[in-house]
Amino acid sequence: MQYRRCGKSGLKLPAVSLGLWHNFGLVDVYENFRTTLHTAFDNGITHFDLANNYGPPPGSAEENFGKLLHNDFSQHRDEMIISSKAGYTMWDGPYGDWGSKKYLVASLDQSLKRMGLEYVDIFYHHRPDPETPLYETMSALDLIVRQGKALYVGISNYKPKEAAEAFKILRELGTPCIIHQPKYSMYERWVEDGLLDLLEEEGVGCIPFSPLAQGLLTNKYLHGIPADSRAAKEHGFLKKEAITEERVTQLKKLNNIAESRGQSLAQMALSWILKDPRVTSVLVGASSSIQLLDSLKCLNDLHFEEDTLQEIENILK
Ligand code: NDP
Repeated sequence: MQYRRCGKSGLKLPAVSLGLWHNFGLVDVYENFRTTLHTAFDNGITHFDLANNYGPPPGSAEENFGKLLHNDFSQHRDEMIISSKAGYTMWDGPYGDWGSKKYLVASLDQSLKRMGLEYVDIFYHHRPDPETPLYETMSALDLIVRQGKALYVGISNYKPKEAAEAFKILRELGTPCIIHQPKYSMYERWVEDGLLDLLEEEGVGCIPFSPLAQGLLTNKYLHGIPADSRAAKEHGFLKKEAITEERVTQLKKLNNIAESRGQSLAQMALSWILKDPRVTSVLVGASSSIQLLDSLKCLNDLHFEEDTLQEIENILK
């Protein structure tokens, strides 16, 4: 594993981190995700990303992770970076959503209980709240750190302008933001339009989520929709409609380039993100340890020739 410094903080993260959004809920198979988690840790993946609402049902990924921590990893807490978030709908009424201090503080308390932890390493505000004053949301993050419930704080899904304001407030409060978690893949490029530059200037790390576009940027859908895939599952966030004929044709062309590099398409999609030194870590999901082992091999080749990059751009156009 390679470890990269998270912005200008003291924290290093593995170049590949594991997210528990899908595949770790009550609907999933315990022995399967247990093996995935062991494979991750045994291969140097020290960072596990959660949120209050991961499951389904919401909260069950944190419960399952807590169970695994307790049963299998209790000796290893200090070797792990565990994150959680709040910002999306979690419980009924006006206090279980968005960005009030009330919601963030209560939600983290619930997350800690579910995971059986005294503190998380990173706590994020999951998405910007257009109604709550940014100062209130950021001071909730600052409070949480001062209470010892999180060591570091981050933000997710914030566009450059609102991210810059958040960084400024947090710096003034004395709890600098160390990480931003945006959606970034060959299919989702908004971060290239100002966010990555801002993060570099501000010394904030970047951990892109859904770098495989939820499995599209793999060999999974090249020949139809497998029954065990995210697109086939009722609770999956990837919809069948996203897998159009046009998209599959494009994926096959990308797959050819990956093969010519001696990589799987998943590996190439991850290397393509990690080639940028402003990226601290790619945050992947995996429904099996075999997938995770495949993805990890992206680290064997992070270099792209200019003409290969151009070829990829031409396909993505
Ligand atoms: P990916 O884009 O990495 O998609 C993961 C899926 O791709 C897997 O479930 C699997 O699909 C497929 N896959 C993974 N590796 C391979 C491989 N080597 N070969 C073939 N198929 C493969 O990421 P996610 O969308 O899962 O997101 C990753 C993490 O990012 C989440 O767990 C979460 O922690 C975070 N996240 C954060 C968000 C935010 O708002 N901050 C929003 C969304 C995610 P299949 O299940 O079909 O087998």
